[in-house]
Amino acid sequence: MTDPTTSRPARTTTRSADLFARASAVTPGGVNSPVRAFGAVGGTPRFITRGAGARITDVDGNEYVDLVGSWGPMLLGHAHPQVQEAVLAAVSRGTSYGTPTEPEVLLAEEIVSRTPVERVRFTSSGTEATMSAIRLARGFTGRDVVVKFAGCYHGHVDALLASAGSGLATFAIPGTPGVPESATDLTLVLPYNDRAAVEKVFAEHGDRIACLITEATPGNMGIVPPEPGFNAFLAETCRAHGALFVSDEVMTGFRATRLGGWGLDGAHEGWVPDLMTFGKVMGGGLPAAAFGGRADVMEHLAPSGPVYQAGTLAGNPVATTAGLTTLQLATDEVYAHVDRVATVIREGASAALTQAGVPHVAQSAGTMFSVFLLAGDAPVAPVRDFDGASRQHLPAYAAFFHAMLEAGVHLPPSAYEVWFCSAAHDDRAVQQVLDALPAAARAAAATY
Ligand SMILES: *Cc1c(COP(=O)(O)O)cnc(C)c1O
Repeated sequence: MTDPTTSRPARTTTRSADLFARASAVTPGGVNSPVRAFGAVGGTPRFITRGAGARITDVDGNEYVDLVGSWGPMLLGHAHPQVQEAVLAAVSRGTSYGTPTEPEVLLAEEIVSRTPVERVRFTSSGTEATMSAIRLARGFTGRDVVVKFAGCYHGHVDALLASAGSGLATFAIPGTPGVPESATDLTLVLPYNDRAAVEKVFAEHGDRIACLITEATPGNMGIVPPEPGFNAFLAETCRAHGALFVSDEVMTGFRATRLGGWGLDGAHEGWVPDLMTFGKVMGGGLPAAAFGGRADVMEHLAPSGPVYQAGTLAGNPVATTAGLTTLQLATDEVYAHVDRVATVIREGASAALTQAGVPHVAQSAGTMFSVFLLAGDAPVAPVRDFDGASRQHLPAYAAFFHAMLEAGVHLPPSAYEVWFCSAAHDDRAVQQVLDALPAAARAAAATY
């Protein structure tokens, strides 16, 4: 079979299809995290068998330039030789003891040295990190109410699964069955970038609010940057009302900049979140996440204080070794490179879409960017909240996604996600992306 638009032989995906059928018989939807299922773009998810640098290879032998990067962690690219070597050495010594180990001290010191947090506690996933940060905020303040923004995702924590961005938006789920009202009753959801809404909710409920949690720069509804001064305003509003300001940097931490999302504003403006959460890059592709912050708040955690939180595999020596090695290798040059690559691809995508007449907005935050393919009646203007992010023409993204995939570029299978680049995206990989864009943009244009 030949693809008429490229005269390239169409990719065979029978092995992925076979595995997906088998997976679907034993796992709900065939996947272990919903957005992997290609539900929003159609077709069969590719089962990846190996990765090296900027590329991944599926079980049918098709190679792709990867712009998913495991949804963020792979800042250095796949199978980085030094990370692999460190992980293999750690594995050879044993994988888990349930005792303190040296790598967790080294990784905690690295995180404390690169961020404004004074103490850090490891977990196995970003979800656990935000869940624990909220419990700690409630335990520390003696208050119950949590404020979040529509379109921000903080993991699948019951209390935070209200208007929670990409995963739910991809499947048009506003909230989820299985979360009792009592779990979200204490969660107040506000439109992002809306100072008046924040002022109103603090004026009315200020003395009941334990914390406000926000993504440092939202990336789970596509990239929707905070307007200048917005995070500073949030930090100040929380302080004035005795609530904690929790900045979720699970996606942006060690990724948007060397200093994470905080590097884009707080580091210059001189404010510091009370608590922060980290994950993704800091695990170097293994399950590791963390929350941290002010020493006096963090010392409320057991065993120093009364707020209980624990984890059998938290601070696992293999995972913390992968994270530590990744952060040690994530130098200024790495961020400068990822930034350049992201700029070239974002500008290339925008140019191809303009050429094809597709209404779109490309937005970025440091090295992270995303592209909104807008609905025909949506204003072509910066997207500043979840309502704006929702005004996309989803069939356009599906067509765009599949054209790119067929040309050997694996984008995230959802219109609400960041396109993740890595230090391993070299000129050849970038050129392959650029070469694939015009036909994909035309495929998108054909859906309007
Ligand atoms: C991915 C993500 C989480 C959840 O992390 P998991 O490791 O998937 O549980 C939380 N917050 C943000 C901002 C994220 O991007």
